[in-house]
Amino acid sequence: MVKFDRVLGHERIKSYFSRVIEEDNLAPAYLFYGPEGVGKSSFALEVAKAYNCESDVRPCGECPTCKKMDKLIHPDLIILYPSKPSNLRELAIEQGRLKPLEFDPTKNITIDQIRELQDELTKAPFMAKKRFVIFLYGENLTIEAQNSLLKTLEEPPDNTVFIMVSSNIGKILPTIRSRSRLIKFSSLRFEEFKDYPFSTTYPITLLYRLSDGSIGRAKKLLETDFLPIRIDILNALSENDPYKFLDVIKPRIITRENAQDFIKIYLTLTRDLLLAHSGSENLVANVDLKTLIKATSKRLSYRKIEKLIATGYEAERYLSRFLNLESILLILAEPFAK
Ligand SMILES: [Zn+2]
Repeated sequence: MVKFDRVLGHERIKSYFSRVIEEDNLAPAYLFYGPEGVGKSSFALEVAKAYNCESDVRPCGECPTCKKMDKLIHPDLIILYPSKPSNLRELAIEQGRLKPLEFDPTKNITIDQIRELQDELTKAPFMAKKRFVIFLYGENLTIEAQNSLLKTLEEPPDNTVFIMVSSNIGKILPTIRSRSRLIKFSSLRFEEFKDYPFSTTYPITLLYRLSDGSIGRAKKLLETDFLPIRIDILNALSENDPYKFLDVIKPRIITRENAQDFIKIYLTLTRDLLLAHSGSENLVANVDLKTLIKATSKRLSYRKIEKLIATGYEAERYLSRFLNLESILLILAEPFAK
């Protein structure tokens, strides 16, 4: 029997995979797509375990196969990341996590990685019934890499299942998409999200609102210090103090990824200010800071708050096209001058 007990939500996807694994009817290639951080990559790993697990109720998480796969050291589990040359596979094994902290989603999955994979696929699986190849950040495969992979998908090797994971399906070639079974993942509902064992004292409703129902984003928020600095941001806005504001954000905006994360937090704060300003503080996302948000909103004009929100969006748009963090800081600090 196949039971995905450890996976939160995604009931229809779980029952689909339970059925096809029990019937031994997996497709050669899947494309898991949907918002980032809702559990696509983790579920890909669960599918690999469920198929190869040695227990009656699968995946058990206890047998040698499950354990090896959980630790990412199973020889028939191949995971392709952007920027493999820096030994990410080894890094992932060392850290025992699917996405090691150091890996860089702005890098590509290259044609060399695909060639290396194709070489590997000429051999039979070492010990598993089926070998699983999981592509994390599938949208990061270069066009050449995708075209090269396409040849493999057109004549898929026996006993191999490909799972491509992507939160930007628009970047996957239509030819690859049409060779894959598409599995759409959605954000978790609050009832599903709240069961995740976060170790934090922050209210779970806050994490849900700030992460748009994405466990991955919520976990990332807790790893950074973006939650505590919300208070400093509000104080800087309240005092209209650009130096204080820059002191807080400058050391934290050091990569595109954390700039994106920061801007999201900034937008929730400024939208909350607007809600509080119009007397709807009960609707704010930053539920734990309701009193401070109300007080701050009283010190700012409606126009000023609108301007703050607009610069948040402007910074977001700018960042999607250019990677110049100095300019992002300038854009965000601009409303202080007025
Ligand atoms: Zn097992």
